[in-house]
Amino acid sequence: MTSEKSAFELHLEKLKAEYKAQLPEKLHTIANEWQQLCLQWKPETIVVLHRNVHSLIGTSGTFGFADISKTARELELLLKPLLEQKDLQFKPGNDLQNSVKNITQVLLDLISPKAIPEQNTTIVSQADTPAEFSELNKQLTEARNSGLVAQDILIYYLDNETAAPEVLLQNLLSYGFKSKHFRTMDSLLDAVERKQPSLIILDLTLPDNSLEDTFKVAHALIQRGIKVFVFSGKDDFTSRLHSVRAGIHYYVTKPADIPSLVGMIRNQLNLNINKPTHILIVDDQESVAEFYGTTLEQAGMKVTIETDPFKVLPILQASMPDLLLLDLHMPDVNGDELAAVIRQQEQYQTIPILFLSGNAHPDKKTDLLEIGSDDLLSKGIPPEELVRHVRSRVERAKILTALMYQDSLTGLLNHAQIQLAADRVFMQCKRKKSTFTMAMIDIDNFKSVNDTYGHLGGDRVIKALAQLLQQRLRITDYIGRFGGEEFLLIMPDMNIHDAGTLINSLRKAFSLIDFKEKNLSFNVSFSAGVAENTGMESFMEQIKFADEALYRAKERGRNVVCASLAGDIE
Ligand code: GH3
Ligand code: MG
Ligand code: MG
Repeated sequence: MTSEKSAFELHLEKLKAEYKAQLPEKLHTIANEWQQLCLQWKPETIVVLHRNVHSLIGTSGTFGFADISKTARELELLLKPLLEQKDLQFKPGNDLQNSVKNITQVLLDLISPKAIPEQNTTIVSQADTPAEFSELNKQLTEARNSGLVAQDILIYYLDNETAAPEVLLQNLLSYGFKSKHFRTMDSLLDAVERKQPSLIILDLTLPDNSLEDTFKVAHALIQRGIKVFVFSGKDDFTSRLHSVRAGIHYYVTKPADIPSLVGMIRNQLNLNINKPTHILIVDDQESVAEFYGTTLEQAGMKVTIETDPFKVLPILQASMPDLLLLDLHMPDVNGDELAAVIRQQEQYQTIPILFLSGNAHPDKKTDLLEIGSDDLLSKGIPPEELVRHVRSRVERAKILTALMYQDSLTGLLNHAQIQLAADRVFMQCKRKKSTFTMAMIDIDNFKSVNDTYGHLGGDRVIKALAQLLQQRLRITDYIGRFGGEEFLLIMPDMNIHDAGTLINSLRKAFSLIDFKEKNLSFNVSFSAGVAENTGMESFMEQIKFADEALYRAKERGRNVVCASLAGDIE
């Protein structure tokens, strides 16, 4: 196992080594403070000493120095009653004298050279069994592998026809997938040997291959980790049964419903994972925050670290994290006070809050649950357990917020949420003096789509556009359904020219998608207006400019993108 140490494990070891190097000085400081108190009692010194001992419990626990953590805990219990002490007045044999003696004894234990073990006890203490380690590694690999984007996806399509496949390939390209057409099984298999695709789409009507042979080959391809879809005019029970037995991932009948086919591709290839989970860690001890931060980053999450509780609200305002991991004990503002301040504000009521503490009384957990926190974990929790806790809280919260905030037809942000995102990005870019662009998109002549193909047909067109936007925008962009067939996009760090080019390419791609309803084929287009934040007073003003540009696009005859340069027509 040691020979296979990952960068992650090595980084944790480095953090631990750094902490170990600082430990003698930390212990020395604590011992000095006590010495000073014995010479001259000062209430402020006992407060500082108590705090240092308290943080030692958490940090040493985190980095695997369990004995030091335990001794520091004993010391903290002895120091606590002295916190209110104005002075040290010894009377022989009284409680105070005994406790001073005990404290000195415990301190001597703490600073004895034996306290810091020579042999590194491994950081991932409780996870240091092969089974748990492999579970952790599996999770980490899964998290890393899930970061696929459409552009990474290669699709092979086997169909002995020529004309029809062109249409499908063209449509897949609109969604950003790279795809290649093959007319014979042999040429497909040759290509697989040269470069393995993520997905193979198979037509079942192949003159040179029997159904059995085709499914045998399909099964072998699936065993190599390739997803295989059947796309065929055959819709009989035998073909479907064979496909189930071969382990085919999806069976689509011709003619293709492209949006639902793309939806299935996205599902099978895990493209529906949105932004990486963002965790905000607040801990006055930077090394501890970095330790947990590294662990969560390795599990594929984005981490922000803050050591000053006073700076937390602006961070929340600028970027809404998916979960807060708070240290319970901090010098100026306690974690529970911070959580209460956060929970006072309606927009932060759904963010899960987890506390970390070196030593909290079991009753504390109940108190924390009452103020709306989600759990209290102990510092020293094995990394993979922390990852599990964080994941499960975030997933549950995402389901709840999706129910509250997402548009039910498209899964995009709803009207209120996209406005909040616009507000947040506007403020953020104002502070950073950076540029961002908004786009307002509206489907053209949508009323007649509804009139001709029915309301459900119209819904499918809305969903297809939502999917195309999700597919082609960056994960840092925000996409919202602003109204019925109107969408608002927020594109941070993008100027109006780049945004215009991007939206224009989406416009072309959308107009190429073939929709099918009631055996009729049709295409739909959209118009869009883009507006940059430069010179704008508020996000509302920017939305207004984007909307005005959209209006001009409609006036120009639709299926165009117009730009608003602080009011100037493109
Ligand atoms: P324009 O090119 O000027 O945008 O014309 P339009 O027909 O798209 O615009 P209009 O605003 O006249 O009509 C939009 C229609 O969209 C009216 C409404 O019934 C329909 N609509 C709004 N929301 C939905 C929805 O969720 N599903 C469906 N199927 N139709 C919707
Ligand atoms: Mg419209
Ligand atoms: Mg409209």
